[in-house]
Amino acid sequence: MNIGIIGVGYVGLPTGVGFAELGHNVICVDKLQDKVDALKAGKLTLFEEGLEDLFNKNVNAGRLSFTTSMKDAVSTADVVIIAVGTPPHPITKEADMKYIYAASSELAEHLSDYTVVATKSTVPVGIGDEIEKRIRQVSPKAAVDVISMPEFLREGFAVHDFFHPDRVIIGTNSEKARTVVEELYSVYPTRPEILYVRRRSSEIIKYASNAFLAMKIHYINEMADFCEKVGADVYEVAKGVGLDTRIGSKFLNPGPGYGGSCFPKDTNALAYMARHTSVDLSLVEATIKGNDERKQMMSMRILAAVKGVEHPKIATFGLAFKGGTDDVRESPAIEIISELVSRGSKVVAYDPKATDSARAILGSSIEYASDPYKAVEGADVLAVLTEWEEFRNYDLVKIKGLMKRANIVDLRNILDGQKAVNLGFAYKGIGR
Ligand code: NAD
Repeated sequence: MNIGIIGVGYVGLPTGVGFAELGHNVICVDKLQDKVDALKAGKLTLFEEGLEDLFNKNVNAGRLSFTTSMKDAVSTADVVIIAVGTPPHPITKEADMKYIYAASSELAEHLSDYTVVATKSTVPVGIGDEIEKRIRQVSPKAAVDVISMPEFLREGFAVHDFFHPDRVIIGTNSEKARTVVEELYSVYPTRPEILYVRRRSSEIIKYASNAFLAMKIHYINEMADFCEKVGADVYEVAKGVGLDTRIGSKFLNPGPGYGGSCFPKDTNALAYMARHTSVDLSLVEATIKGNDERKQMMSMRILAAVKGVEHPKIATFGLAFKGGTDDVRESPAIEIISELVSRGSKVVAYDPKATDSARAILGSSIEYASDPYKAVEGADVLAVLTEWEEFRNYDLVKIKGLMKRANIVDLRNILDGQKAVNLGFAYKGIGR
């Protein structure tokens, strides 16, 4: 099949590479000339484990290409996948549809034979209708079905999740579109489970899923605070709770609050939608408020560890919103660091992959270390902000030797706390 993908970001790129790997012909279009130039020159524009080899393989096989021309991506496509951003409005926090609407009108000009337009971007309920309306305004006679195809990949595991999705949700009531979707997924060695629902239900499934996961994280974070106060260990609690199969063990890791390009944005967008339909989503509202406050609380926790030190030097491990990605959108690490800087701290940060993306936000307000041991030189405290697996293997003896004070605040509980204490560190984790 021929597939056009609009928007070559954290969703569009792995999706394009994945479908090409499974044998479809994929043309990806993006507005950003620099991005397309880089991809054409064989340079990946984001980090995802396992993506580079598949990208090279499929470009070389002629099944995957990149363009800035909407016509090239759309005119021969059986399926056009919209994967542009739906960022939060800076004031209302509702999902901003400007890229979706622009892409809809632009793609409409180039539709020829019957085409399925699939929305992978996360869009509020009813936006499928709006996309269809805009396509028909430009191209009234187009043979087109607009379907909802929400994306559930986890950044850092995008390649794995593409090939092994838990579920595929398709929102459509068109039989013709269903036939095309079946063909699209027929190339999987094991066809994933496809759940067909109404388009509006599909749009809500994405928000309802993300809001539930955000609530689960916030819940265990609150339990972590409670455990600290009463002398319990949140990991033991999470393990015991998670053994209940009705609850499950995933997303019960305490930390500095959720971040990333999805949970903050999608919980806010859902709450906005509900407010405008006079429905009280009080659990979602409480989660948003609690998570926002948590990041502030975490900054205070780090500052408490250097109480009395004027202009402390704070080393941080981590800038990305989670391990395994270079994405810093809504990263708790960025918010915490900004707060520390605004309160007079000098911050030196190390991250295995996210330094460049963080620099675009934090600029010269902090220093960026090229290796973890440089970051901790002369530091009054080390704050661990992202859960990169490699942090577990760093040499704590060496770190102690380089720091001014043997002092760790581990907001991800990723270091060996007992070992750190045995080595003479003042060590503060979460929920213990
Ligand atoms: P992104 O910002 O990484 O990428 C979007 C790309 O779309 C950009 O490169 C931008 O230049 C391009 N674009 C915008 N308008 C365009 C147009 N008219 N024509 C061509 N290109 C255009 O965004 P992302 O993280 O990939 O997210 C995309 C959507 O998927 C969002 O709605 C997001 O909520 C959803 N989503 C993201 C994730 C994730 O893990 N990032 C997971 C599930 C769903």
